[in-house]
Amino acid sequence: MKRLVVLALLLASMPALAAPAAPPAPAPLLLTSARVLDPAGDRLLDGRDVLIENGRITDVGPTGTLPAPAGTRKIDLAGLTLIPGLIEMHSHLLLHPYDETPWDDQVLKEPLELRTIRAVVAAKATLEAGFTTVRDLGTEGAGFADVALRDAITQRMIPGPRVLAATRAIVATGSYGPAGFDPRWDIPKGAQVVDGPVEMRKAVRQQIAAGADWIKVYADYRRRPGITTPTLTQEEMAAAVDEARSAGLLVAAHAYTEEGIRRAVLAGVKTIEHGTSVTDELLALMKQKGVALIPTLAATEAVSRYAGWKPGEPEPQRVKETREMFARALKSGVTLANGSDVGVFAHGKNARELELMVAYGMSPAQALRAATITAAAVLRKDQELGRIAPGYFADLVAVKGNPLADIAVIEQPAVVLKEGQIALDRR
Ligand SMILES: [Zn+2]
Repeated sequence: MKRLVVLALLLASMPALAAPAAPPAPAPLLLTSARVLDPAGDRLLDGRDVLIENGRITDVGPTGTLPAPAGTRKIDLAGLTLIPGLIEMHSHLLLHPYDETPWDDQVLKEPLELRTIRAVVAAKATLEAGFTTVRDLGTEGAGFADVALRDAITQRMIPGPRVLAATRAIVATGSYGPAGFDPRWDIPKGAQVVDGPVEMRKAVRQQIAAGADWIKVYADYRRRPGITTPTLTQEEMAAAVDEARSAGLLVAAHAYTEEGIRRAVLAGVKTIEHGTSVTDELLALMKQKGVALIPTLAATEAVSRYAGWKPGEPEPQRVKETREMFARALKSGVTLANGSDVGVFAHGKNARELELMVAYGMSPAQALRAATITAAAVLRKDQELGRIAPGYFADLVAVKGNPLADIAVIEQPAVVLKEGQIALDRR
């Protein structure tokens, strides 16, 4: 008995497991002579300096006018255009392109350790492409590896974007892959399986306890050969949203079908992923309820390429549908934020989504806002991400040329900074 008391006292006196503190911030940095995207994201301001201290922008002004503290390091950005670090709303850092390895084989055969190491490489490629924040929407069978990846990046062990992790994602029984096996085999799925509001609530609690920043649910799935149907019930999704909300988290719903989208929106999710069959009525409802659409155009294009389509040939049905959906969504005034489903295609090629948004009807300024100001607002981080203004994180990308005239110039950044740290310098 006495031993137990001693043990209890010992345990009580042990400090809680805390993340190691990040290393001290670097010296102040002055970016000089840049052309800068204005905070509203619609025009470029010539001849600007940007002062960075402790990882944040502290001042922006005409070149030569900012008082720089002693020891300030200067970086000359003459001839370059500075835009905010880009935000990817739908990544899978734990996946790699399906034309390299089919999704089923990645989930069933690749060791978790190999997948995690590959994700470290993917994170670096993402950051160097100018994407300084990603919402990673599911590890697809790799457990909580996204949380470890996020924390390793936060602790500056490895380079990478700021990661908002959704961990395992949540699906209904019989409504996710790998599928198509003899029913006797209990095949592990690429997400956490639940049935009923009670199990849903428990899964959300487990994922939050394991470090989730967002919760992802699958409102529908191709659970019959060739047919996509709703899966989770209204009550199940409502339980997910309610439980997530209790912990201050938002929910993203994978939804292609009209009924799947309707249930998810009525349940109170914050984002609809893909949204292929969204109707005008549902777009109006989403707009009214402040639900954002993440169109993942680049994934549709990639999957079509893997099926044999070559750009330039007549568009396959799914590309046509996506283009048509995007045009209607744009016209409706619903919030459209940049999310590509990268991982389906190569990490670091995230800019493809912005190019397609422009090809399908957005102006380059609108596409840039979808990947900066708008995305930050959906993430509820619009006071610190998505603009070049005092108080914001110094997540910055310098590109050659004018992204408001040609969005493709963002493909090859010259300089990338995250929280004032230089991640890439190809000047
Ligand atoms: Zn996805």
